[in-house]
Amino acid sequence: MRQQFATAINVQIAQYAAHFVKRFGAEFPPDPRNVPFTPTIRNFGYLYLSDSSEFTGVLKKDQELQARLGAGTHILSRADVQEKYPFLYTDDLDSASLNLVDEGAFNAWGMVQWLRSTAQGNGVEYIANEVVGAEMEEGTNKVHSIKLRTGQQITVGILVNAAGTRAAAVSKTVGIRDLPVEARRRYTYIFSVDQSLTQDLPLTIDPSGVHLRSYGTKDYLAGCPPVGPDTAVDVGDFSFAENAWEQKILPVISRRVPQFASARVTDSWVGHYDFNTFDHNAIVGPHSRVSNFMFCVGFSGHGSQQGPACGRGIAELIVYGRFQTLDLSVLSFERVIENRPLTERAVI
Ligand SMILES: Cc1cc2nc3c(=O)[nH]c(=O)nc-3n(C[C@H](O)[C@H](O)[C@H](O)COP(=O)(O)OP(=O)(O)OC[C@H]3O[C@@H](n4cnc5c(N)ncnc54)[C@H](O)[C@@H]3O)c2cc1C
Repeated sequence: MRQQFATAINVQIAQYAAHFVKRFGAEFPPDPRNVPFTPTIRNFGYLYLSDSSEFTGVLKKDQELQARLGAGTHILSRADVQEKYPFLYTDDLDSASLNLVDEGAFNAWGMVQWLRSTAQGNGVEYIANEVVGAEMEEGTNKVHSIKLRTGQQITVGILVNAAGTRAAAVSKTVGIRDLPVEARRRYTYIFSVDQSLTQDLPLTIDPSGVHLRSYGTKDYLAGCPPVGPDTAVDVGDFSFAENAWEQKILPVISRRVPQFASARVTDSWVGHYDFNTFDHNAIVGPHSRVSNFMFCVGFSGHGSQQGPACGRGIAELIVYGRFQTLDLSVLSFERVIENRPLTERAVI
């Protein structure tokens, strides 16, 4: 969870996420099925490292935007970084940006499980199946019903496409062929070291594109995009296409944190970003032609923290016909149709 974004709406969405997590215990009744979820933020912050005056200029511009919106981001000089995080190699750095307020990690999976369980307790039905087709209402631009893999048909009032990396396939069932969302491979490794750091490691974004952070109390997480070209992959392909640990991550982390030269991998996985190739931002709200079809897709790697604001936004559209808590209209699908990208530069 971070407020260090380059788009104003993403800063506000992240602030809402922090508010949501912090107020969780007070605002929601205890889960009837006792799903364990501790609503806290581990505020170790995000630390963007810059190795050039050009990128420092970008960080400064972003920091001004974030600070205007109330975020606690600061620009650090190389000496500041060295003083605050003495275990980091800083000789090649120009500056960094850091925010320690409401920025760090939270248990997104626990939160989702808690919400799902509570919704079920309140009568919401979850159907384990796959939408494979849809029928339109004759003579209108409205979806009439969806068809499931097992053959059943369900009549819909409003259909929300929140299908993550499969969002483009679901859109096609109602004739929308231009949703610019695809699956992109991302590598994650958990590792331990001989001697742990004496303080939390912020989520540190190295200029090489590798990121690393504290994971548990004594282990760490590092991740990166593909070593080769970052292209669309099959939504079911979670294979390691290359040895990103040896080819990319280990050289970078052992240089940046010399203590990490002894790193031993304890777990690893391949995940997929639900990547919006148009402008790397979520698409939230109704389709302009198919009148009862809404999008909540394209989160491009920042969807866990955007879930609370965007999910609420969609609920408000359904119940009240307009956004109430946070105006998310800049994230509408219209911008894609009208070729008005709202580009988010700060994608990790
Ligand atoms: C390595 C990695 C690191 C990340 N780090 C962060 C981070 O630090 N912070 C952050 O905010 N975000 C992060 N993200 C992004 C975040 O995980 C995603 O943006 C988020 O999970 C998207 O949530 P979603 O509900 O939109 O989609 P998903 O979680 O993908 O859920 C989509 C659901 O739709 C279902 N579905 C798909 N097709 C159909 C169909 N035809 N019929 C019925 N159901 C269907 C799927 O089964 C699934 O349950 C990361 C992602 C990755 C891969």
